[in-house]
Amino acid sequence: MATQLSQEIYKLDTRISNVYLVKNDSGAILVDSGYFLERPLIIYQLRRLLGAGKRLTAVLITHAHPDHDGNLNAITSRFGGDIYMDEKEIPYAKNPRRVDLSKMDALGFPDRIIFKTMTRIAPVQSISAVDWNESWKEQFGITAIPTPGHTPGSCCYMHHPSKTLFTGDALLTALPPWTVKQKICLPSAIYSTDYEQALTSVKNITELNFSALCTGHGHPILEDASQKVYAAMY
Ligand SMILES: [Zn+2]
Repeated sequence: MATQLSQEIYKLDTRISNVYLVKNDSGAILVDSGYFLERPLIIYQLRRLLGAGKRLTAVLITHAHPDHDGNLNAITSRFGGDIYMDEKEIPYAKNPRRVDLSKMDALGFPDRIIFKTMTRIAPVQSISAVDWNESWKEQFGITAIPTPGHTPGSCCYMHHPSKTLFTGDALLTALPPWTVKQKICLPSAIYSTDYEQALTSVKNITELNFSALCTGHGHPILEDASQKVYAAMY
């Protein structure tokens, strides 16, 4: 079952990519929607966490890779929620054949399967672009921070009340698709559209002040996270 990480933040029990729920008196926000193979597990947990008949306020997407936006249609059709992502990411989420398959040959077997399934995700139609300054700030204390490079519109979300940073794949604590080995790590070069830009974004992340780090893959770091990230990177 889901793990409560702090007063308002829950991590759903998943294996392939991480899905988080921010819940307070004014509603609930989902950060990323997970991979399609884990859909029943995610929906079951959301139903329990939200409570009978409760809806999502919004679903915030860190980037339009299918292990993160793969359940958008299934989740929002059941639980509602306006979908937000960086505007540069929207064309990818709306494109059913969004993935550059030219890199396929460089990949190992498990990655090829994941890449191939990327083209099978139903495109999402109704998406709003995040507002960098005021998004969800009043209701949830969450703002978006652009961290491009892994994808053109990768972004992080900061939950200010708990100083928790959600990074998607801009910064990780395990390298996908295998998440056995845990350590703070950079985004994968093969999966990233602009690796130099991704490294600049990691540098920008190390300059932020956050207590908890909730990555797209790997276990969250719940204490002194920005110091630990800085120590790992320098
Ligand atoms: Zn990922």
